[in-house]
Amino acid sequence: MSRPRLMIPGPIEFTDEVMAEMARPTPSHVDPGFIDIFGQALEDLRNVFLAGPDYQPFILAGSGTLAMDSAVANLIEPGHRALVVDTGYFSQRMADIVQRYGGEVTLLSAPPGETITPEQLRAALTQKTYELVTITHVDTSTGVLTDIQGLTAMAKHAGALVIVDGVCAAAAEELRQAAWGVDVYLTASQKALGTPPGLGLLVASPQAMDRWRNRTTPVGSYYSDWGYWLPIMKAYEARQASYFATPAVNLVMALAVSLRQILDEGMDNVFARHVRLSNGVKAGIAAMGLDQVPTDLAHAAHTLTCPRYPEGIDAGFLKYVREEGAILAGGLHPAIKAEYFRIGHMGAASRSDVLTAVAAVEAGLRRAGYAVEPGLALAAAQAELG
Ligand SMILES: *Cc1c(COP(=O)(O)O)cnc(C)c1O
Repeated sequence: MSRPRLMIPGPIEFTDEVMAEMARPTPSHVDPGFIDIFGQALEDLRNVFLAGPDYQPFILAGSGTLAMDSAVANLIEPGHRALVVDTGYFSQRMADIVQRYGGEVTLLSAPPGETITPEQLRAALTQKTYELVTITHVDTSTGVLTDIQGLTAMAKHAGALVIVDGVCAAAAEELRQAAWGVDVYLTASQKALGTPPGLGLLVASPQAMDRWRNRTTPVGSYYSDWGYWLPIMKAYEARQASYFATPAVNLVMALAVSLRQILDEGMDNVFARHVRLSNGVKAGIAAMGLDQVPTDLAHAAHTLTCPRYPEGIDAGFLKYVREEGAILAGGLHPAIKAEYFRIGHMGAASRSDVLTAVAAVEAGLRRAGYAVEPGLALAAAQAELG
């Protein structure tokens, strides 16, 4: 029997070409062939984020949380004020990191399932001045999408730097880093970027690099300090050997393949495919009579779907879904954890993957005792998928 598809909000299914790179003999981190691959990956990352040539990419061994740590550790100084746009679980983590480095946090919190509008942010920014605003592009615990273009414009207008946690959004949701003025956009390898877990990635604007250069206090983390990493990233891009701490060589090779696949598809096509797949899943879920955590589809993510369990069903039903061919995730947001589940559909996900997931949810619900007419959900999904 074929194995079930991994359709959680990361890690995801990776392409055969990406997995083949993981199995290659590991070269030296200063092998000329590897230096070229790392240099190309840095250049491609900039292009995936639609950042400018003067934006600085970093590829680090670690997870998405390290990318968050790296951004905050380098841009916050003790006593700085940060406004954290809070749309769920990972916004709270960002607030904790800011506090760990001595920043003062103000939370602008949305109830679970709701977003924060640019107008709400504008109002909050008139109360106080902030050195930093942080935003989560897609909150993985609620499936809520924020308006990065609108929110960033408000924050920049108020003179703050903007860090966006794009871990569940990068290479899937529309993002134009340079045009929208995002100072740091960060992600992890295992989500839509399509590479096994183990890399934290960020791209910083010239203004963010200036803020870091003009610090009056040392960076409070040793491993995250851009003072060590900037020369390394610059050296790889200049195709020169250098060393601070050993890079995750095979992961970087796999990442380079995935970035190439993403850029070959084209960013506008990548964004449009995620919208299409998401519409298909959401239509299928609605056809089964299930509600979703985001209170309005206009602010629902395109990388995952968060259906609420219908009456009489709980997380126990996910084992049936797995037997029917799709591994899905339970809830994550502490306030509503037991009320919903999550379907990831990002990265290399295809039309047939999302149809598999919808069919597996339908069959799983029936096996758990919830009456749903066979085929209705698939028809609704197919109507959206075309
Ligand atoms: C997954 C995720 C993270 C954490 O990434 P790790 O790789 O698990 O450290 C942070 N933010 C968001 C939005 C995420 O989805």
